[in-house]
Amino acid sequence: MIEFEYHPAIEAGQDSEDTLTLYFVGEQLLLPQRLIDQPDSDVPWSKETLAGERTLEMVLGTVDGETLRIAELTQAQDGWQTISLRDYLMNSREQDFRVVNAAAQLKYWRSTQNYCSRCGTGLVTIANDRALLCPSCQYRSYPKISPCVIAVVRKGRQLLLANSNRHRTAMYSCLAGFIEAGESAEEALAREIFEEAGIQVKNPQYLVSQAWPFPHQLMLGYLCEYDSGELNIDTTELNSADWFDIDDLPLLPASQTVARKLIDAAVTLIRDC
Ligand SMILES: [Zn+2]
Repeated sequence: MIEFEYHPAIEAGQDSEDTLTLYFVGEQLLLPQRLIDQPDSDVPWSKETLAGERTLEMVLGTVDGETLRIAELTQAQDGWQTISLRDYLMNSREQDFRVVNAAAQLKYWRSTQNYCSRCGTGLVTIANDRALLCPSCQYRSYPKISPCVIAVVRKGRQLLLANSNRHRTAMYSCLAGFIEAGESAEEALAREIFEEAGIQVKNPQYLVSQAWPFPHQLMLGYLCEYDSGELNIDTTELNSADWFDIDDLPLLPASQTVARKLIDAAVTLIRDC
């Protein structure tokens, strides 16, 4: 398992021949061809210095004590190819998943925060704080994190799972949604499941969380139980949703996702009952 630590500040860092670098082209990861074919065969960063115009550079932190930088290039290089963040994360190892997740969120924040939202002055980096500072009014911009709830609902031996409009496959997953300002996670969970599926739930139990870089979500994972209601699907968000017996589950998300961890935990809970 690799040790990952954040750098204490946002800065471009010193350019050096042998610094570990994780490359992006826009929102996509840039990887050597061998890793495109098999994302879980090695770490996605390297000491290779790629030529080409760099639109963003920053230090992310350290992996096993070595500095790791993020660099965004304008285009792919010979022998390297882009892969969508989602496709990479679904096929990566958990230890790399965590670092790429952090890198993608920091990069997104850095590339979308250029001016002070209070007075419009250009933001600058500062020492010893992972923030950007307005030199005019002293406002500090921190990386944005959007909390979401994600839940699997149990009814006897069945789980409520949905195929979202966002999914490009027949995969079924948990229901999820953003927490509104002023709402608790449990209130958001009850509201989202009722809005999306017409189901009232009870006994929400927090289980696990996971950062999810699309673009800056923090998923809070819950198990809960069916209380009342008939399935009534919000078709603006879902293609379909249904109750599935734990012995007849549809295509599920990859094992490193919080959705799959919740589904697996619910199945274990039901089998142990
Ligand atoms: Zn300002």
